[in-house]
Amino acid sequence: MNEEDFFRVSRERVVEMLEREGYLRSSLVKKALLTVPRELFVPENLRRYAYFDTPLPIGYGQTISAIHMVAIMTEALEPLPGLKVLEVGTGSGYQAAVLAEIVARMDPAKKGHVYTIERVPELAEFAKRNLERAGYKDYVTVIVGDGSKGYPDEAPFDRIIVTAGAPSVPKPLIEQLDVNGRLVIPVGDRFVQRLLIAEKKPGGELDMKWGIECVFVPLIGEYGWRDE
Ligand code: SAM
Repeated sequence: MNEEDFFRVSRERVVEMLEREGYLRSSLVKKALLTVPRELFVPENLRRYAYFDTPLPIGYGQTISAIHMVAIMTEALEPLPGLKVLEVGTGSGYQAAVLAEIVARMDPAKKGHVYTIERVPELAEFAKRNLERAGYKDYVTVIVGDGSKGYPDEAPFDRIIVTAGAPSVPKPLIEQLDVNGRLVIPVGDRFVQRLLIAEKKPGGELDMKWGIECVFVPLIGEYGWRDE
């Protein structure tokens, strides 16, 4: 089997597993996970582990999340073609690519877009390279900065996803979420969090539901944890 076939079969197998285990509900999320080549988002020496359902190191003490966590968070966010999404915590760019596949690449005429913010400049560069070679350059904008402050230049957003653990929901993210928009964010202490899924009501208040427990690297910033 050549390398391309090996990765395609590995991708199909992991998606089958996610479906069997009940992590996948939407055909859009399934299609995106079957399409985005995760092997292009992990460091070269770890490529053969790209479809192991586990977080993998990407340098600078950071990780690309496990595939089931990407499935859970993407399902919770309910992305649709044409929506404007903000991701805080670009890392490898893989989650941004999965979202861009759904909101932008599946139906480019609807003009959806993903904005993603990373605080470590070297990782933002890594993600940009990965997104470009995977074909997502035109659908994802990578920004270097403190995403706990959101990205006011492009607000409001239809969807906001945070892929680092926060002590509480950053106020700017609530302000930058559009009415009827959804926010998915791990909230807890520095080591263990619970997934918070929130919807913004017309009055501006959040309708909140708690999901599963999870373990993310900390959200470091003005509205996150203050120190490394
Ligand atoms: N979504 C990523 C992926 O698909 O590879 C995985 C994200 S990794 C678990 C968390 C990322 O959040 C790290 O790259 C970390 O540097 C970044 N981060 C932490 N605090 C941040 C902040 N305030 N603003 C932007 N990025 C932040």
